[in-house]
Order: sequence, then structure tokens, then C-alpha cells
Amino acid sequence: MSKYLIAVDSGHGMETAGKRTPPLPEPWFNIKKGDVIHEKEFNKPTAEYLIDALNRCGFDTINVSPGTTDIPLKDRYTTANNAKADIFVSKHYNAKDGVWGNPDDKKGVPNGIETIISQNASDKSKKLAELVQAELVKTHNRKDRGVKTDIQQSGINIAVLRYTNMPAILTESGFMDNLYEARTMLDPEFQKADAEATCRGICKYFGVAYIPEKEDYIPTAPIDQKSINKDIKWLQEKLNKANKDYQIPITGVFDQKTRISLLMFADNKGWNWDNTWGFTARQATINSLAKVK
Ligand SMILES: [Zn+2]
Repeated sequence: MSKYLIAVDSGHGMETAGKRTPPLPEPWFNIKKGDVIHEKEFNKPTAEYLIDALNRCGFDTINVSPGTTDIPLKDRYTTANNAKADIFVSKHYNAKDGVWGNPDDKKGVPNGIETIISQNASDKSKKLAELVQAELVKTHNRKDRGVKTDIQQSGINIAVLRYTNMPAILTESGFMDNLYEARTMLDPEFQKADAEATCRGICKYFGVAYIPEKEDYIPTAPIDQKSINKDIKWLQEKLNKANKDYQIPITGVFDQKTRISLLMFADNKGWNWDNTWGFTARQATINSLAKVK
């Protein structure tokens, strides 16, 4: 069975005019007061997390705007059309008027999430947009601005929605000129959650099971000769990551090489368990190995 192919777009380039926050009123993370954040800095990691999530769920993907330069719109939709992608998903963040939203502003603080489709969108695009929008609103618990057409949103046709041959959507996951939203959007956890929500919506659209990211499995009991294969395999894989110069086969059987590697790991930690390789020592080893990535 051939897989579905998803075209992923992360819009704009670092130097695209506009498409950035107003100057920061205070330092955030490692960004200085007075600097700006470009929309690409929000969009790009989110699109990359989305590609990871989609691949995990069994989709093929094509990134139509890799890198940080502004890929011409025509190139993006042509790439998707030529590849015969099944759907096109563009990840963006919104902006109202490029000045920080202010609660006293009569126009109100811009906030919330919307998903955009072409004015001439097919029913399939609408369905995809509604499914993704619902997941994004649920995940971020933000104002639901709904599914809108490009003309309703900005008064212009959006090329990547209009000239793509497949169902196409563009998500706006918050406002760059809303202080609170801009700050949370910079958080990798937010970007990741956004990507997973988008992936869940896409899975629903295709009727494909969503596969969540695997939590790190950590054996609860100390591992020794009597442990189950799965736990011993876990130990052997972690030891190979920790002891780069001493690689052992992943057999699921606690053998001499596993024992040596384990002692090397303890030695490198400066632990001297000697004859006290008891429950506490072994549990400490597991806890320490669990942190090895
Ligand atoms: Zn944008």
C-alpha cells in the first residue's frame, strides 16, 4: 500500500519584510530586549516537529520550504503539485498590525487560533481545516477564531492555497503581536504540541491511527540475569550509548559482556560498588542510565 504524501510548508524566510514580532520589550530566552523574532523562527521548528510526527504515524512528507530563505510561492506549490502530494499544510503565526496588542486598545488584543483555506476551497480542504483547527484549539486552549477563507482573513488570495492541486490549509497558531502568545509560541514545548495537534487532525482526515511519541521506557526493577529480555535489551542499548568504546550485542540475555559494560559505566561514574551490588546500587544505575540519550 502506498503511503499518503503530505507537503509541509513553513512560510516566509528570515528576511521577508514584516513577518516578525515588534521589538521585544524585555529579554526572552536568549533574545535581547529590542530585538525582533522572525515568523520563520516560530514556523520552521513547528514544521519540522510536524514532519517528525507525520513520519512516526506512517506518512511520507515533503518539505516545500526547507532552510531559512524565502522560497518563492510558485516553487512551493509547484513542488507539492509535481510530487502529487495528497494534502498541503502550511504552518504560520498570525499578526494583526505589527504593534504589541494592548488591553486598552479599543481594537482589542489580537489572540487565538485560525485555519485558512482558499476562497475556492474544495469540501475536502474544509474538512481538513475543521479537523486540524479543532485539534489546535483543544491543545492550546486558546480562542477559536474558526476556519476562514483567505479573502475573509486578509482580503487577498493566498497562492499556496489557491494553486495547489490538493486539499490545502494554512494554520495560524497565535499572534506574534500579542505579548503572551508570542512568548509561548517561542517555547519548543508549545511548538511540539502544535505539531502533534496538527498531526492528529491530519490522521483523522485520512482515518489513520495517530501514534503518540513514545515515552521513555524505564524498567522498574534492578536488571540482572533473571530479568525479562525487554529489560536486558534496554540495559544493553543504554550501555552502548554510554560506553561508546565498548559496544556489546543487543541480545536480551545478561551475559559477561553486559556485566563488563555495566561495571565500566559504574566506574566512569566514579562509583565503587564492590560487593554491594545490591538493590539500591542497581536501581541507582538504572536511574542514571535512563538519563543517557
Ligand atoms: Zn505567515
